[in-house]
Amino acid sequence: MTHAIRVQSLNKTFGARQVLHGLELDVPVGAMVALIGASGSGKSTLLRHLAGLATGDRNSGGEVQMLGQDVQKNGVLNRNVRRLRSDIGYIFQQFNLVGRLSVLKNVLLGSLGRMSRVRGTLGLFNKQEVNDALRALERVGLLEYAYRRASTLSGGQQQRVAIARALCQKAEIILADEPIASLDPESARKVMETLADINKRDGKTVIVTLHQVDYAVKYCRHAVALKGGKKYFDGPINRLTNDFLSDLY
Ligand code: ADP
Ligand code: MG
Repeated sequence: MTHAIRVQSLNKTFGARQVLHGLELDVPVGAMVALIGASGSGKSTLLRHLAGLATGDRNSGGEVQMLGQDVQKNGVLNRNVRRLRSDIGYIFQQFNLVGRLSVLKNVLLGSLGRMSRVRGTLGLFNKQEVNDALRALERVGLLEYAYRRASTLSGGQQQRVAIARALCQKAEIILADEPIASLDPESARKVMETLADINKRDGKTVIVTLHQVDYAVKYCRHAVALKGGKKYFDGPINRLTNDFLSDLY
């Protein structure tokens, strides 16, 4: 079986402080996994390693693979990591859109990993690319906002634009770091439904860090919990008992 993500013995030390301890992780293609754990448990650090945005310890860092290819091994990035990264859509708590650009332009920027950067910066997108971007916006329910400035949308809408951008990028794996942490409950629900929908209908693999366990239980079948940079739980989310949870936070 091909894994979307496979992590073996991942160690990460900042200065004198080890923040990831021999992590092992297997995420099959098409899974939707909640990554949970208290603040400071290493969730964001782990996600950055999966995307090749950070490297494990030199010599003892272990391995990260995505879709059967090495992202990093013992602290050394694959030299084609840029190409691998184009298969990852990264979604941040703070949306990371270019506020002064239109919603459509922001979604089109997603395709930049797959085409000439120069062409993209000049705004020279072809008809096919524009159609793909509009379709992605329709998919997240925001087609009517295509020509608005991104900064005029609500936080939840901006987050769905970020998801459309990942779709337009044709990312196979979505890594979402606290995507609903700064949203009201209704917007949070819509963002989680959008993630669940692209997981179910498009078969995208989704790994989402969540502070609120209730959202994890509602939208994800599988959970991985970290505690102090160690894996504390990895299994069907309905096996996360209250005892477990009270120990986790
Ligand atoms: P979480 O996302 O679960 O809240 P993080 O991955 O952000 O946790 O952080 C895990 C630990 O690593 C924390 O103790 C944090 O202070 C530390 N850490 C994260 N990034 C750095 C860094 N660049 N330099 C030093 N320490 C860091
Ligand atoms: Mg974090």
